[in-house]
Formats: sequence, structure tokens, C-alpha cells
Amino acid sequence: MKKEMKLVEDYQKDLTLIGQANALLSWDEETYMPEKGVESRSEQTALLSGIAHDKVISNELFNALRKLRISKDLKGKEKLMVDKLYKDVVKARKVPKEFVKEFSKTVALAGPKWREARRKKDFKIFAPHLQKIVELSKKQIGYNRLPGHPYNSLLDDYEEGMTAEKLKPVFADLKKELVSLLKKIEGSEKYKKQKLVLMKKEFDGKILEGFVYDVCERMGLKKEFSRVDLTEHPFTTKIGVGDVRITTNYRENPMFAFLSTVHEAGHALYELGLPKKDEYNVLGDAPSLGIHESQSRFWENMIARGKPFWKYYYPRFKKNFKLSGDFDEWYKEVNFVHPDKIRVEADEVHYCLHIILRFEIELGLIEGSIKVKDLPKIWNSKMKELFGVVPKDDVEGCLQDVHWSMGSFGYFPTYAIGTIYSAQLYSQLIKEHPHIEEQIGKGKFDKIREWLNENVHKHGSYYLADDIIKKVCGEGLNPKVYVDYLNEKYGKIYGFD
Ligand SMILES: [Zn+2]
Repeated sequence: MKKEMKLVEDYQKDLTLIGQANALLSWDEETYMPEKGVESRSEQTALLSGIAHDKVISNELFNALRKLRISKDLKGKEKLMVDKLYKDVVKARKVPKEFVKEFSKTVALAGPKWREARRKKDFKIFAPHLQKIVELSKKQIGYNRLPGHPYNSLLDDYEEGMTAEKLKPVFADLKKELVSLLKKIEGSEKYKKQKLVLMKKEFDGKILEGFVYDVCERMGLKKEFSRVDLTEHPFTTKIGVGDVRITTNYRENPMFAFLSTVHEAGHALYELGLPKKDEYNVLGDAPSLGIHESQSRFWENMIARGKPFWKYYYPRFKKNFKLSGDFDEWYKEVNFVHPDKIRVEADEVHYCLHIILRFEIELGLIEGSIKVKDLPKIWNSKMKELFGVVPKDDVEGCLQDVHWSMGSFGYFPTYAIGTIYSAQLYSQLIKEHPHIEEQIGKGKFDKIREWLNENVHKHGSYYLADDIIKKVCGEGLNPKVYVDYLNEKYGKIYGFD
């Protein structure tokens, strides 16, 4: 079996390296590539993706995996690795090559149409492309049908082991709790009088950039193995074991760049903390997007929207940006609750409602109970129901996210799953280290990073995401911990606790 194992390992190494080369090409495309480079760039990435796909579905790899699986001497790590890779391979082999081509062609055409529709504020331009993507997604489900709801096959690509059946009650509960918390917030005197003052000041870009670098450094994202660059939408990408890159974007609200950098740095720390010994095999990856997001949300929400964090940073912000407000005012503005129509700019209380809205729509599109042409109408009525506001156009509404144009159905729930996990992790951290907030108040985050590393990062894909959370917190996905955290925090801020 030695020969087969070597072959399987070699394949995984090649696949990892091709993936990293592709990641570098995409990173360059988003950051520095001149506009006219787009045509050859798309050919380059398509070529690499094609080579990778051929490797994944090759008979040589498939046969080696099959031999290994029937042999009795496979155990421990090797067994885990072979089983995991086998699952991926079987999945990929069931999808016909013509479908893969058709899907990528459809998505390649849909992207520019989505952007044009946004520019012209006209959903109709994008609708036929989305229609095609929905049809192809349904077809895709047929190739790898999982038990239960058809949506499960899509969800499983991003959140292995999670199902619509498990998520529906979790989200239904969460929705009820969030709506009731919002009622309390909106009914409070403080809410009625609230206004952004400090955030409206002019924030010097150079100084803000200094803080962005400072927070990355303090979190442990050193320059020797990372970079921060500028893109329209912030993201994190791993180019190699000692090379993880993040991007940021400076917008009108100064907190956007700062908090989104903390968010991406959380993703980057996770990538850097994954087991080095599994650098070139499937166990060295994150087991799901939800757990990846739990790391970014942890730093963004639990740390960087928290009081202890601003105990350290606010005096420095105050001095450098010459702000005149006191700490409580600043803290309240950082946690300003208001019904923003844009998901990526949402506060902690509204955020998951944005996700639930998208989850319900995705289920409807896949079940066939929602038609693509009715999307703007349905989106707006759900916004009205959940947020009490209606987007002024589709750019603020159903055209705001890039995911559907990329064919990524089943992706959105991972944001809410990660958000819930992040609260569970923080609650556990406090139990184990009751004085950690004193450290945070001094701008020291090493202990936290080490704790996340020990409890989450180093497990790679040795366990499913929910099992990692169970190991650390004693239970899997539990929205109650998140809801309790929100109630306590916002009860204090809005004065109804
Ligand atoms: Zn993220």
C-alpha cells in the first residue's frame, strides 16, 4: 500500500500547489493587475483549474484511493485523510465535464451582467443569467443528491455535515429572538435620540492606516508572513504556508476599514494556524466556511466591538483623530444599531437577519416556490417585514451581494453559523480565562490567539466544524449563547437591561 499512499500524497501536494498558484493569480487580478490583463488572466486561471480538475477526477487517483480504502492496515490520520479525499473525488467524478464547462461559462458571463445591472440599477439585466444559474444549481444537486432537502447538497459544499433540516429551526429561533431584541432597542429612549457624531468626523486616512497596521501586528499578523492591500471588497487569501494576504477598503465610515481588517486578520490567523504537518493534504484545510467565519467574527465582533478593546484603542483614536467625545459615546457609536440595507455594513443585531432573509430566498429558489423574476419584490417585502425599511433600488436590495452571480448557493448560512460559533467560543474563553479582558484592555491579544490556535486552528480538518465546537464548548451550534450575548450587551447600551 506504500505505493498508493505515496501517489495519493503526491496528488494532494500538486493540487495544493496549483490551488495556491491560482490564488496568487486571483489576488493579483483583484489588487494590481492592469485592466487589459483580464483576458489572458482568465485563460491562465481556467487552465490551472482545468489541470486541477483533471487530477481530481483521474482514474489513477481514484483507483489508489479505492485500494487504500479496502486494505485493512489503514488507520488514524491516514484513514481520515483517505476518506476525506475519497469523498471529494467521488463528488467531483459524478459531475460531467460538460456541466463543469457550462457552469463556469455561465458564471463568467453572469459576473459582468451583475455589475452592469448594478450600474444601471436594473435587476432585469441580471435576471436571465441568475435564472440559468438557478437551473444549473438544481442540476448540480442531482449529481450528488444527499438525503433530505435538495438544498443540503449545495450547503454541504461549504458546511460539511450541516443540513437545511438542522438550520431551519435554528434560524427560526434566532429570527424570533433578534426581532424581539430589536423591538426593545427601537422602543428605548436612547435609540430614539441616537445620532452618529464622532463617526461623522473627518478621519485622516494615513493615521487610520497606521491603526489598521497596528491592530494586525497586535493580533499577531506579522509582516514576514502577510500583507495588507486595497480592494473593492476585502478578502483573505492563502498563497503558501508563510504567505497569507488580506485586503481592506477605506470607506466613508472609518470603522469599515478598521473592523473589516480585524475581520480579515482573523481569517488570516486561522490559515496560519492550520496544522503545518498537513500543509499538502486535505486535513490541513479548514473543515468548513462556518468555522472560518467563526474566527473572523470572533475578532471583529467579540473583540473589536467590545468594551475592553476600546479601553485600549479609544484613548489613542481620541488623541490622534482629535475626537471630543467620551468613551461611552464612542463605544455606543461603534455598536450603533440601525436597519442598514447593506449586509456587509450591518450591526451585530441586524447581521444574522440579513442571512436569514437570503437563506429563505435560496430555499424558495431551489424548491421552486420563488421565481427569479419576482426576486426584487420578494426581497423588498422581506426587508420590510424584518427590518422595517425598503431598499430604494435593487443595488441596495437583491443585487448587493456577489455570491449568486458566482453560482454560490448555500454559502450565505455559513456567515450566521460562524457568527453564532464566535459567541460560543468567546463565552468559553471567558470561562477558562476569567481575566482575559484585562489583557484585551492593554492591547495584548497573544493569549487569545494562542487559545484559538490550540482549540480551533490546529485541528485542521481532523474533525467536522460542529465537532470542533463541541470539543471546545461542550455543545455544537447553539444560537442561544449568541442571543444572550446580544441581549446583555445591547440591553446595557440602550438602557433596558
Ligand atoms: Zn469573513
